[in-house]
Amino acid sequence: MSTSPTSIRQNLLRWYDTHARDLPWRRPPGSTAAIDPYRVWLSEVMLQQTTTAHAAPYFHAFTARWPSVDDLARADDPEVMAAWAGLGYYARARNLKACARAVAGQHGGRFPCDEAQLRSLPGLGPYTAAAVAAIAFDAPAVVVDGNVERVISRLYAVEEPLPHAKDSLRALTAGLVAVGADGRHGDFAQAMMDLGATVCRPKAPVCAQCPVRSACQALAQGRPESFPVKLKKATIPQKYGLVFILRCGDAVLVETRPDRGLLGGMLGLPTSPWRDTPIAEDEAEVFAPTEAAWRIEGEVTHVFTHFRLRLTVVTAEAPSRGRHNTWHDRVRLQSALPTVFAKALKVGGEG
Ligand code: SF4
Repeated sequence: MSTSPTSIRQNLLRWYDTHARDLPWRRPPGSTAAIDPYRVWLSEVMLQQTTTAHAAPYFHAFTARWPSVDDLARADDPEVMAAWAGLGYYARARNLKACARAVAGQHGGRFPCDEAQLRSLPGLGPYTAAAVAAIAFDAPAVVVDGNVERVISRLYAVEEPLPHAKDSLRALTAGLVAVGADGRHGDFAQAMMDLGATVCRPKAPVCAQCPVRSACQALAQGRPESFPVKLKKATIPQKYGLVFILRCGDAVLVETRPDRGLLGGMLGLPTSPWRDTPIAEDEAEVFAPTEAAWRIEGEVTHVFTHFRLRLTVVTAEAPSRGRHNTWHDRVRLQSALPTVFAKALKVGGEG
């Protein structure tokens, strides 16, 4: 088999025609039916940092509730933030609203088809703009996510470590896009993603089933898993804090977090400040939202992008709602909170 870019692309697309993943935001391979850019954009934003299996129910819920970008543009901020709870990376939910409003207000409710114009929308970085341009509009955009980086680094046995190798990997991917006389740019982008997700997996790639195996230099060298080469990661810092679950009958005390900062604008449980040293048990009273018979129930850990957080879960019963006015129904609270707080609720005996 030839190792030319044209041959690699053809083999990949042939494989995609029969092996494409069936995902709710997709059209079938080879189809020329119009695809709604809103659905492509929404899925791509959701899929950043999470799996297709985790994102799919959120995608169904969002598109059932807000079927068009205009509907999403009109939605209330707290509703969108609550629907996003559990997907993580909450700045994205805020950008989601801002982008929907920009498309509705400045582009007549239609996403622009040009990659540069897509880049000018709130929250659309180079990857998302390229993915929407390619998948929704079949533009010859170079779409490079983590899956594609892995496939390309193996195909060409790129020794340069990530993240320095990003430009080289992008240039090599561009070489496969440039030979796209077939015009199937959306299918090609998704075929690369699917190959990385299902065959050229991080561990134990299934090279025997790979449509581009005869062109693969990492396989020829007998060491696919050595690629991509990565610089050693610095260990991320550890932070500590307390999280408070105050119950009053059927309700739990909550707060809306400040707009700026981590989990900004999301519903949360009251916490102490998060700091670099563990917080002693007797400090609970110092940071507690109210005086009560606080008791420690356990701990939860959660890994954010830049640090690892260990929260001690402290609970109490309140005889009345007192001066606090932000209470949330206990039954529905689990699904309205970001993951870190949902974990704390479980440890605290809620859900
Ligand atoms: Fe990945 Fe193996 Fe295919 Fe090479 S042959 S691209 S390592 S699955």
